[in-house]
Parts: sequence; structure tokens; C-alpha cells
Amino acid sequence: MNEHDSERLTGLLERDGYEATSLLEEADVVVLNTCCIRENADNKLYGTLGQLKSLKKHKPSLRIAVGGCLAQKDGDKLRERADHVDVVFGTYNLHRLSELLERSNLYGPVTEIWDRPAETTIPALSLPKRSKRSHSAWIAIQTGCNNSCSFCIVPKVRGREISRPFEEVLQDIADQAAAGVVEITLLGQNVNSYGRDLTGRKPLFADLLREIGKIEGIKRVRFTSPHPKDLRPETIDAIAETPNVCEQLHLPLQSGSNRVLAAMRRGYTAERYLERLEAARRRIDDLAVTTDIIVGFPGETEKDFEDTLAVVAAANYDSAYTFIFSPRPGTRAAEMKDQFLPPDVVTDRFNRLLMVTERSALERNESRIGRVEEVLIDALDKRPNVQGAQSSLGFVGRTRQGKLVHLVGSTPRAPILVGSLVNVRINAAGPHHLQGELLDIVHNGNSLS
Ligand code: SF4
Repeated sequence: MNEHDSERLTGLLERDGYEATSLLEEADVVVLNTCCIRENADNKLYGTLGQLKSLKKHKPSLRIAVGGCLAQKDGDKLRERADHVDVVFGTYNLHRLSELLERSNLYGPVTEIWDRPAETTIPALSLPKRSKRSHSAWIAIQTGCNNSCSFCIVPKVRGREISRPFEEVLQDIADQAAAGVVEITLLGQNVNSYGRDLTGRKPLFADLLREIGKIEGIKRVRFTSPHPKDLRPETIDAIAETPNVCEQLHLPLQSGSNRVLAAMRRGYTAERYLERLEAARRRIDDLAVTTDIIVGFPGETEKDFEDTLAVVAAANYDSAYTFIFSPRPGTRAAEMKDQFLPPDVVTDRFNRLLMVTERSALERNESRIGRVEEVLIDALDKRPNVQGAQSSLGFVGRTRQGKLVHLVGSTPRAPILVGSLVNVRINAAGPHHLQGELLDIVHNGNSLS
């Protein structure tokens, strides 16, 4: 979401006459878009602002703007720590950045944070955007979150859920398709609750998926993230029955201990989670499932952790994002007892968890060896000599399940373009990638990279 906000900030500034530069010394304006979901956002921000201070000494006309979650949370306090910042703006008013820069030019430093959006919809969501990839686009369908997971700062900095109007989302996607985009990823803090706050007819997330399925030119639809407690049978059916919705589900577990899940305020038990996962796997052929897991939550016992290992083993994930708990000031979890477990205990648990998740990821990937997969070419291969033995075609792509594939084989007659759909025979696998030989081109892309 934060990266997508940066795309929209770039699109907004370009619309208003600014031009992007990769050379800091050339810049007249530097915008830092912060995210405070992970540890160290403060350190990174103030470290960067320290470097910019010396630059600004040599170039006093340089304007520095700070936005995003940290700015939303800290507001004016941010300028107390870094008085060379010219503009502080929040998560609800990023569409006002150009105007705030202008104001700071005329009248000096300005802080503008909105507690909530001024209207029932967020104007920032329909800003122009400048994506790094012309074949693939993020589409924000919702901001904010009505849940209150005890470890999470998002509800505080992004506010309550606001869904973007149904027709507006569809129009945005149709416009993207007309511009050559073939893959979209729907973004929301909890996409499963999409539509609940809209007035009049309240479309379900499943309705949105089915309508997007009808938009010509869109070959792949992905989404992130659905909350396990809100994964409805209608959504599972819509994924199964809409051909361009990919067989990929990111279902954050966080913990496999019911005691810890209750302390996290997640709203489900491990048994309920596994039931929903099973229902999704039964209904959607060849579904890949990924997850998020936190290790070392306050008070986590060895028994709690073993419960997590058991659920992770039963879930047999394709991939897992594993995190060591770190308290976010302002959250309930940051106030809990037994805040810090001994570091060696946490490290040991983290490594044991990693062994289980890596093993299942490898097994799941190896089971695809020999299959022919449809791969969307995504980018140039940064590791062209993967597996060494076969000549690399210099491209990577993703299967419908979201698995990274390094392409090998002989160069085809037609050029491979980023955004092309190709058939690939998988011939090797690691826990985090596949390797496959190009067979043929299914659909030509639109951009050489
Ligand atoms: S569902 Fe929980 S973890 Fe996800 S954004 Fe909302 S509060 Fe945070």
C-alpha cells in the first residue's frame, strides 16, 4: 500500500509539472513516504533526514516533504526533531502534496494532517499513478482497517475502512487494461470486508472479483490481504469460477496457538483457520497458499510455539513471511507483560519455524517439476546464472500461483517482451524459485525492458 501511495505521489507531481530524477543532487524536492508497520522506520527516516540536512545547507532552495504513516502518527513532533523539513502530510491528504509544497515556498514550513478523510471516499485513491511496470498495476480498493489486532499500528495510522466505489474501481481497471496492463493486484488492509461501508447496494468482494473477471485484456487478478476470519464461501467460489483470478491466497496465520491468537485479537482459532484453508483448497484447483507468522509475541510459551509449528506443518504453505515480534508504540501489544522473551529463545524458535516453512516451500515447488506452467514475464533476470547448467534467457516471470520462475533454454524466434505470457516446462526448483524452459509464447507483451 505504501509503495502504491508512492506511485500515486509520483503521478500527482508529474501531473503538476515535476519531473523525476534519480540524482539526489539534481532534486528541487525530496519526498519521503514513510511506513511504520515494521521496526526501525523512525531510525531510517531520521537517518535520511540527517543526510538531507547537509544537502539543504548547500542548496537552501531544496524542499523536503515527509508523508505516510509516521507523519500521520507524529505530525508536528516530526518537525521538532527535524526542523529542516518543509512539508509534513499524512495518509488521508496525499492528494494535496503539490499545494502544500507551493504553500511552503510562499509562507514557510507547513504541517497538514487530517484525522479522517474529508469525504466518504478518499480522493487520493483516484490520483494518477506512475508504475514502474507497464504490464502490471496495483489497484487500491480500500483503505483503513476496522480490526484491532493488538500488534498492529495500521488502524491508528490509516483509520477505519473506506471502500472505493465499485464502479470507480472497475473503471480504473478498464483504463489500465486499455493502457496495456494485463495483471492487476487489488490492495486493501482487509479486502474481504470490501463494500461493507458503501452506501446503497453493498457489493461483496466476491462481486468485485466476478466483475473484474469480465474486463477485456486483464489476464491475471491477484489481491492482498484477506483476513482469515472474513474469508467467505462466496469469495472462494468467485476465485474458483473466475478464470482470470489467480490460484493464489495469502492467508496470514500469525500464530497457531489459540491463547496467543486471542491475545493478538485475531478473531479466529487455529482450528477455524485450518477449516477455512481446507475449504479453499477443496474448491480451488492447484491453490498456492502463503502466510505471515510472528514469533516471540509477548508471553509466547514453548507450548504456544509448538502449536504454531503444528499448524504450519498441517497448512503446508507454499511460502511464509516470518517475523520476530517487535512492539509498535501505541499498540496494545506494546503494553503487554512479558514483552521481551530471551533473545536466544526467540532466535531458536525463529530458526525452527524457518526449517518447517522452507521444507514445505521446497516440497511444494519440487512437486511442479515436469509440469508446463503459464508464466507472465515480469522483468529482466537479476541472477541470470541461476542453476548454472543451462543458458539463461535473461528473464524472470511468475506462474499463476505467484511463483518466481527463471527462464532458461534457447532464444525463441519472436522476441520475449516484459508482459508476455509464455508456456514454460519446469525443470528445477528451490524453496523460493522455479526454473523452466521456454516452450512457446501465448500472448505477446507490450514493453521491452
Ligand atoms: S487486520 Fe489486523 S493486522 Fe491487518 S491491518 Fe487490520 S489490524 Fe492490522
